Amino acid sequence: MDFLPLFHKLHDRLALVVGGGEVALRKARLLADAGATLRVVAPEVRDDLRELAGQGANQLLLRGYQASDLEGVALIIAATDDEPLNAQISAQAQALGIPVNVVDAPKLCSVIFPAIVDRSPLIVAVSSGGDAPVLARLIRAKIETWIPATYGQLAGLAKRFRAQVKGLLPDVQQRRVFWEDVFQGQIAESVFAGKLHEGERLLTQKVAGAIPQALGEVYLVGAGPGDPDLLTFRALRLMQQADVVLYDRLVAPAIIELCRRDAERIYVGKQRSAHSVPQDQINQRLVTLAKEGKRVLRLKGGDPFIFGRGGEEIEELAAQGIPFQVVPGITAASGCAAYAGIPLTHRDYAQSVRFVTGHLKDGSCDLPWAEFTASSQTLVFYMGLVGLPVICQQLIAHGRAASTPAALIQQGTTSNQRVFTGTLANLPELVAQHNVHAPTLVIVGEVVQLRDKLAWFEGAQTEV
Ligand code: SAH
Repeated sequence: MDFLPLFHKLHDRLALVVGGGEVALRKARLLADAGATLRVVAPEVRDDLRELAGQGANQLLLRGYQASDLEGVALIIAATDDEPLNAQISAQAQALGIPVNVVDAPKLCSVIFPAIVDRSPLIVAVSSGGDAPVLARLIRAKIETWIPATYGQLAGLAKRFRAQVKGLLPDVQQRRVFWEDVFQGQIAESVFAGKLHEGERLLTQKVAGAIPQALGEVYLVGAGPGDPDLLTFRALRLMQQADVVLYDRLVAPAIIELCRRDAERIYVGKQRSAHSVPQDQINQRLVTLAKEGKRVLRLKGGDPFIFGRGGEEIEELAAQGIPFQVVPGITAASGCAAYAGIPLTHRDYAQSVRFVTGHLKDGSCDLPWAEFTASSQTLVFYMGLVGLPVICQQLIAHGRAASTPAALIQQGTTSNQRVFTGTLANLPELVAQHNVHAPTLVIVGEVVQLRDKLAWFEGAQTEV
């Protein structure tokens, strides 16, 4: 270890910044954020730095650096483009035992700036010891995605209760278990979901020992249309902390793989007209598992509130008083359209888009066909493959031109995506011709022709 990470308290201490350019500005801002008083020295200073250096007790010295500038200083940043001057500042600072950082010159530094993830009071610092700052920044970016923006609020909440909990639980081990439970359970989730008051209420209850039994929680999470890259950060986080996962046929194996390794996995998928687990049994199962105190992840393809029966599942949870949260996902229409090069709306071709279920009961059609005739409207049919001949026929019968462009997107966004384009007249034939199977999304409307205009290209996919 070449550098020992320490966190430097700079509140109301004097920090010297030598230099007046962009780098100096960046460092000065950081120092100001940490509460330091600035002394900025440079013959010329850019306007924004001049403004910062003019605030409060900060000092701005518009001249060259002098050794006397080091007086009373707790930290020194040399950010000039004059290398001999930087070396001189470093030598003088080190002779006086004052920590010094010379930007982009690790050899001249006694302290270096890490890449920072700021969720104050929680701060994560990453350093490569000056050897590979870009790598440190990339790692920082990864950490940024793991730590919800509201982590700071969670830490703030914990701070308010810290002394009280310490008084109640003198044993370190007990306290560790207490706080782990707070940071990984329902209290943390409430804060992450923007419900700080709820988190505070639960924590107050917990501190008072008023939670009679551990009640689990259900996360109703949209897993997107297939490509794991389309998961949200929140989805991924909940996937990695749930104790048990209930998933559908639509959720791609690559996504299940991202769930916590030791989580129990339960398949509750449905085949069309072969319901393997009836919906009410799924609802009941969610309730039972949560009542056992488990964190239950209900993973759904696409978005849980778009043809996902998410509404029914949370109704049951709400009725039983089980805490739950819903995490939106990218719905098949957005995902498939983007990956197939078909904008769902376009100023010239479609002013609205309609998501329609094509799952027709008994082959009959109870859809409001007359509403679908406007040519400026894009129609997206979910579950429309079996009923496709009826859908096309009814649209034409109700006045949509037989020549209206239409597309079939099978397994959209995955590496197996296949796209076929045609018209309302020949779409059903394409299904037979290319053995198109579920899950397939049907898009109808003038926007489909934009795919060709955009000269969209997918590597392995079969074109018509
Ligand atoms: N809640 C889901 C939809 C569930 S309904 C969502 O928001 O996307 C199931 C239908 O969605 C399928 O019959 C198919 O029409 C469509 N679908 C889901 N994922 C798909 C995919 N990757 N490619 C094509 N269609 C898909």
